[in-house]
Amino acid sequence: MAIRNIREIGDPVLNKKCKEVNELTDRTRELIDDMFETMYDADGVGLAAPQVGILKRIVVIDVTGEDPILLINPVIMETSGEQRGYEGCLSVPGKNGIVTRPNYVKVKAYNEEMKPFELEGTELLARAICHELEHLDGHLYVERVEGELVNTADLVEQDEE
Ligand code: ZN
Repeated sequence: MAIRNIREIGDPVLNKKCKEVNELTDRTRELIDDMFETMYDADGVGLAAPQVGILKRIVVIDVTGEDPILLINPVIMETSGEQRGYEGCLSVPGKNGIVTRPNYVKVKAYNEEMKPFELEGTELLARAICHELEHLDGHLYVERVEGELVNTADLVEQDEE
């Protein structure tokens, strides 16, 4: 396993549409392992393959730090409700912005054996699923931000006041 370089906003790879995964090669398995390692190393709750420069429809998420989720070729089946809150992205370091997302999401995807499964998420998990899936179509959350991006350091200060 290895930590990969996280691509940042302005890198054209982040604006490209990713291709579906048809079979899990050793190379793809290695990519998945590296994506988890890279996400944990960066203290992120999610990472999409284009963020490490690979245009494949693969996402890793872990909103609790102990519940790793792999989504291959994920598709959102259902959403409901609404949540509004600050969001961040490993490809937009040091910044956060307010984004409205569904509060519930149901997604269909393939697992590490290329078996289909469904996953339901609420709150932060729903937010992470929506955020990461948009990466696969070349979109960043900053396109959806309500108001201005703020510095993460300022947010932390606000919380402490
Ligand atoms: Zn992101």
